[in-house]
Amino acid sequence: MPQLVLNPNREGSLLRKHPWIYSGAVAKVVGEPQSGETVEIVSAKGEWLARGFYSPASQIRARVWTFERDEAVNGAFFARRIQQAKSYRDKLRIQSNSYRLIHGEADGLPGCVVDVYGKFCVCQFLTTGIARFANVLASQLMELPGIEGVYERSDAEARTREGLELRCGPLAGSEPPERFIVEENGLRLIADLRNGHKTGFYLDQRDARSSMPFAKNADVLNCFCYTGGFGLRAAKEGANSVTQVDISAPALEIARENAALNSLGQDRFTYIKADVFAQLRKFRDQGRSFDVVILDPPKFADTQRQLQHAARGYKDINLMGAKLTRPGGTLLTFSCSGAMTPDLFAKVVGDACRDAGRKALVRRILQQAPDHPTALDFPEGRYLTGLELCLL
Ligand code: SAH
Repeated sequence: MPQLVLNPNREGSLLRKHPWIYSGAVAKVVGEPQSGETVEIVSAKGEWLARGFYSPASQIRARVWTFERDEAVNGAFFARRIQQAKSYRDKLRIQSNSYRLIHGEADGLPGCVVDVYGKFCVCQFLTTGIARFANVLASQLMELPGIEGVYERSDAEARTREGLELRCGPLAGSEPPERFIVEENGLRLIADLRNGHKTGFYLDQRDARSSMPFAKNADVLNCFCYTGGFGLRAAKEGANSVTQVDISAPALEIARENAALNSLGQDRFTYIKADVFAQLRKFRDQGRSFDVVILDPPKFADTQRQLQHAARGYKDINLMGAKLTRPGGTLLTFSCSGAMTPDLFAKVVGDACRDAGRKALVRRILQQAPDHPTALDFPEGRYLTGLELCLL
């Protein structure tokens, strides 16, 4: 099998079971591995360290499949990984018909995302190795009880960094419906599995969305609302009014349909198609205020390099959001930029609240729902961080 030989003293992270090998750590490639092909990873002294897959186009030159020397990468390997992921989820008692079954590195399958929507798996295969085994994975997923179809949504930008084409379409079994209804703790939420963001829905916010007692009788501003999730929960909790803001017209259209689907009454809802940065200023200029302000923006930083720019973005919306929050009200604020650590996020939001002249008390620290686990050996897997703040 082809080999990746590391530079001297570059084996430390692998010995700590971190699954990424950066290009700078690689001394030479022995043999001529194809993109995505399985390679043996050995130290400069020739010790076997791991078995992984080769990504010639990426800065992350290889990712680990296994640290067990006698574990082959074949159909049985993927079946085992899927079983392990499934038994972890089975114990979570997720209050939904939809959940993340495979969350990349944490589940030992780097770059592999599989979300289950009822009888269907919707997948994102974001690395060369996973893409190479797409059909093997699909047929193993079909073996899961109750699964009738596997659909691919590999239209994420991360694919291009790996030198892969974007790809969407059915992989196995029957095709999922255009629209699937996610049942989440008593709410029914439409997911557009073909055209929606990611695999159609932000499953990672399930827990944060499910606990909003502070919304009772409140005027709620839900920024970056997508299909309305937080706002719909707020309405179900008895919010007085809910203002849903997003830049995407199709997302707002679904938010409107979701309100009807849950018989929550359209009269309480206002929908605004706008850029949140501008809309927050508009509200300020109009002297508007809210009891609850929710900020769940898209990823502002992909890499460490973009972090400073991202921090300015977070500072800006949180400053404006804090100003619009009534005394004693709630600011529910998130970052899904992996490079933004929980500590740094708390600092940026803290600065924003202070500049707004507000004292912020942390009521809850939030993170991605546990079906999107973080392995302690792979802290990069923790991407979503949030704060539920009471602003005095
Ligand atoms: N809170 C949502 C997920 C939000 S995802 C949920 O629970 O489902 C981020 C959303 O921000 C997307 O819907 C995207 O359309 C929107 N968005 C991105 N940039 C924006 C901007 N500048 N202004 C308003 N919305 C924006």
